[in-house]
Amino acid sequence: MVLARILLACILALVGATAKAAPVLVLGDDGTVPLTPRLSYRHDSEGVDRPEDAWRHVDAGDFAPLPDGSAAFGFQRGAFWFHVPIVNRNPDEQRWLLVQQYALSDHIDVYARYRDGRVVHQAGGDALPFAARSVRYRHPNFMLNLPVGEQVDVLVRVKSQSSMQVPLVLYTRTAFTELSRDAQFAIGLYYGILLALFFYNLVLWLTLRDASYFWYLFHITAFGMVLFCLNGLGFEYLWPTSPWLADKSVPLSISLALIGMHQFSRVFLELPQRWPPGNRVSLAAILVFAAFAVAATLMPYRTITPIVSLAVLLSIIWISIVAVVVLRRGYTPARLFLLSWAMFLAGTGAFTLVAFGVLPKTFLTEYSVQIGSALEVLLLSIALSHRYAALRNENERIVGEANRRLERKVAQRTQEVRSTLTQLEDAHRQLSESSRRDGLTGLYNRTHFHDAFETMLEDASREGSPVSVLMIDLDHFKSINDEHGHLVGDDCLRAAAHRLGSGLRAHDALLARFGGEEFVVALPGRNLQQAVSIAETLRRSLVAEPCVSHGRTVRISASIGVHTVHPDGGRDADSALQVADQALYQAKDNGRDCVRTALTAA
Ligand code: GH3
Ligand code: MG
Ligand code: MG
Repeated sequence: MVLARILLACILALVGATAKAAPVLVLGDDGTVPLTPRLSYRHDSEGVDRPEDAWRHVDAGDFAPLPDGSAAFGFQRGAFWFHVPIVNRNPDEQRWLLVQQYALSDHIDVYARYRDGRVVHQAGGDALPFAARSVRYRHPNFMLNLPVGEQVDVLVRVKSQSSMQVPLVLYTRTAFTELSRDAQFAIGLYYGILLALFFYNLVLWLTLRDASYFWYLFHITAFGMVLFCLNGLGFEYLWPTSPWLADKSVPLSISLALIGMHQFSRVFLELPQRWPPGNRVSLAAILVFAAFAVAATLMPYRTITPIVSLAVLLSIIWISIVAVVVLRRGYTPARLFLLSWAMFLAGTGAFTLVAFGVLPKTFLTEYSVQIGSALEVLLLSIALSHRYAALRNENERIVGEANRRLERKVAQRTQEVRSTLTQLEDAHRQLSESSRRDGLTGLYNRTHFHDAFETMLEDASREGSPVSVLMIDLDHFKSINDEHGHLVGDDCLRAAAHRLGSGLRAHDALLARFGGEEFVVALPGRNLQQAVSIAETLRRSLVAEPCVSHGRTVRISASIGVHTVHPDGGRDADSALQVADQALYQAKDNGRDCVRTALTAA
């Protein structure tokens, strides 16, 4: 069978050679037949030839075989004509689908010339609305009627602003169904991953409000859009009636994707702080791509796309450099960034190697850009969460440190307040103590005596014990002042106070300066007899020794009135003092320097 086919092809080729025609392509059992190896072409550089002219050139043998068997010519002016004669030897398949496996060609005209001279024309390409296609599919396609055994000349004219690529393939309907099924699955898987990552990071951005998430979303959306347009899906699903947008969408989305990527790398790698000169270059690149985005809508595809493509290449290199620099400066999140970027580069690189025929075309290599970019966006998403975790840990460390510092400050302040309070309390105690003391003698003053005496009387009343009180007045003190001066008088007052204090030390007594040269003593638990005895001891101790001051020797004596408050008697402090005072007057009247009691006074 195969042999027969080769034989037939040889015969036909021979016949063709004599007729100066291209070798005939024979369709057999194979459901997928690439036309490229069999195409001959002619470049109509002015784009003026009509189909009749082209047919004439075909018949005159003016068409040449494809250079290096490749139907990729880059960006070109004018129109390209391709020709292939076909004989269908497959009795089961009359209708074949001719697919131009490149989504961006603007105008594709297919002419099929039958033996009877009839020519069937079909027009396609993304300059026509999507609905013009034979099958709703992302690549332009044309249904060809190929009667069995009959030679049909197929002439294809391609005119496009985009790069001149004409990978034409003929499919039986079964083969096409299988092909589109696999491709749809791969594409669905890819955009599924992209969408999942998009929504996942959208939620994170809405929650965390971190700018790097926003630029990640921006980049992934624009990048997804680039592939969507390159695959012809944008035209199929998003703007099927707008050939204008189909034309502009590729350079536009590439420019936006690069703005997103530059901006994302700036924010993620913290370029403004970590490498200011690099940051300025990235900002400039963003401006350039913003200008490209505007130019993409205004300038012809043919002019803008090669420039943008070059800028993309430079950007890819630049972003790699930026990541390496920041990583070498010790910023660890740059490591995952670089890894994800390497994935993208590997995917794109593999795709290019396939295009140059270095790598074989397999599922992995054919979809390497998709696989690489899917891994890239996935790793970037992981890098984002890592970076966020690192930021959060750093924040927690800072907050913790601030809290500890605050606690130390609070403890220090509390200590200071406490010590100030203690000082205040001391001052207050000293103040209240001094308000209860007499400045000259250091004894309690009359106010304090009054309060303490009342309390003492109440306690004694509860316990049923007596309290005695002594009123002591120094004798002829005015004459001491007059004779020796006030300073000597003061010294004598101090000496008297000191001597009274010493005399009372053993008696749990309350001694106070009552005013002037008068003193008062309260003796809890002492009856009249004991009190008189104590008073007598005090009186004697005063006269026993004169007071020496400023070189003078002054004799001092005192008169003492004694009174005892009994448990069953009146409990009024003032009246008790009054009675004692009367006893004191009695002592004065009796010649001074003596002790008298209220009883003796009565
Ligand atoms: P008598 O024996 O009757 O008590 O005579 P006296 O002079 O002591 O009594 P008088 O009440 O006439 O005088 C009390 C004097 O005590 C008057 C005042 O100059 C003196 N005096 C009162 N307080 C002080 C003081 O703080 N310092 C000095 N140096 N003298 C005082
Ligand atoms: Mg007096
Ligand atoms: Mg006196």
